[in-house]
Amino acid sequence: MSKSLDSRTPVATVDVVIVGAGFAGLSAADRLVNTGASVLVLEGRDRVGGRSFTGEVAGVKVDLGATWVSPRHTAIRDLAAKVGCTTTPQFAQGRNVQWLAGKRRTYGGTIPPVSAAGVVDMARIQMALEKLVGTIDVDAAWESPDAAWLDSISFGEWLDKKRALPSTRALMTVVSKVQWGASPGDVSLLHALRYIRAAGGIDHMLDVDGGQQQDRITQTTQEIAVRLAQQLGDRVVLNAPVRRITQNGQGVIAHTGSATIHAKHAIITTTPAHRAAIEFEPALSETAEGLTKTWRMGALSKALVAYKTPFWRADGLSGEAVTDTGTVFITFDVSPAENGPGVLMAFCDPRVFDGFSPELRRSRVVQQLADLYGAQANDAIDYVDHCWGTDTFAPGGPNPAAPPYASVTYANALTEPHGRVDWAGTETAGEWAGCMNGAVLTGQRAAERVIARLRGESSK
Ligand SMILES: Cc1cc2nc3c(=O)[nH]c(=O)nc-3n(C[C@H](O)[C@H](O)[C@H](O)COP(=O)(O)OP(=O)(O)OC[C@H]3O[C@@H](n4cnc5c(N)ncnc54)[C@H](O)[C@@H]3O)c2cc1C
Repeated sequence: MSKSLDSRTPVATVDVVIVGAGFAGLSAADRLVNTGASVLVLEGRDRVGGRSFTGEVAGVKVDLGATWVSPRHTAIRDLAAKVGCTTTPQFAQGRNVQWLAGKRRTYGGTIPPVSAAGVVDMARIQMALEKLVGTIDVDAAWESPDAAWLDSISFGEWLDKKRALPSTRALMTVVSKVQWGASPGDVSLLHALRYIRAAGGIDHMLDVDGGQQQDRITQTTQEIAVRLAQQLGDRVVLNAPVRRITQNGQGVIAHTGSATIHAKHAIITTTPAHRAAIEFEPALSETAEGLTKTWRMGALSKALVAYKTPFWRADGLSGEAVTDTGTVFITFDVSPAENGPGVLMAFCDPRVFDGFSPELRRSRVVQQLADLYGAQANDAIDYVDHCWGTDTFAPGGPNPAAPPYASVTYANALTEPHGRVDWAGTETAGEWAGCMNGAVLTGQRAAERVIARLRGESSK
């Protein structure tokens, strides 16, 4: 029997306690509730959605975190449909802007044009990368044939070994900063290959049409989580950071600062790094401890700038840009309509962003948009941003930036249950690790494993 938690009931007893109300935790809860199990989802933040977070600019709801779904992301799409959320195609008509090495040009297609030698070099590096991606076991990259070697160098060192030209390196650096919130030199080659494999290859990872940037959720991605949490009702408890989990042969006890939850099993959906904020008794294995210490989260920041209209469209521009100069390194047009406010979304480098005042952050972004899209970009009517690396609770994102040796040494602990504690969260996914889709799948699968264990226990 489920018991909701509030100040009057600081002790609750349920079948399964779930840590984290992101897509993994909410999906696990949804699956468990549908089979009749009692659950309580404990969320440390004052909101649900985790790395999906809605902001507002010029009255338009915007995604400060996760934004896009691919046509192949069927789990998150199904979940969105179930709660009445819809998709909007990512606007991609017109020419893209490139501002690399101080030079502005426009181009069509996904990969920005460089010199003839640059185009050849980019194709050479992409082919070499795809060849390595093909050797990766998506469910256990660290057990792939050359895992030890691939995890012994960073993505950046591999680009050096391959003598990648500066233009190729500049583009790969943008990819690395967006995917792992870190430079290529900070990420293991094996880690990078695992995420590219999980994302369906480099083209699917970067493309709009048919790729991971194809559609946005019209109501914002966090709204899916908000609606699912509403369905779960008082089974979701906010402001409840789990500090300690103890267990014995009969069950687990989760302790927040002010409440104690007794359960038969626990599902923990935090990122690997954030598992370290929970004290486990019995303690985690050395491998599991190592995972929490080495799989540090990367950092990425996002800014959304509103204009009266999407003026760049009139100039034949898509609103998509890539640049290696300054704070912003990628932009997209996320305007709600042709004649409504125009909204540009900009990915920003936290190292030249997060430490500045809100006014300075805004002026740097707007200035750069003016470089990319012309003087009209100075006439911003509203602005909002979010620095994921400086969140006070569970900081970092989009993904971990695991350095060399961290995967072959510790990644087995991503999914290895710790007694009655099971793990979920996008990092534990094989295919679609790093996306909302992966998070949903891991939550559902963890729920299935726990349901099987509950059934096994009740039949004894
Ligand atoms: C800037 C950015 C852009 C992104 N873009 C995309 C995109 O376009 N498409 C896409 O598919 N994905 C994108 N992602 C990734 C996507 O957001 C994640 O893959 C997904 O949301 C992860 O869900 P999750 O449930 O696994 O983890 P999370 O969303 O991180 O949820 C884990 C939850 O656990 C909570 N928690 C942590 N520790 C504790 C504790 N001790 N006690 C209680 N609660 C705790 C956290 O507060 C959090 O709510 C992006 C992410 C970021 C940051």
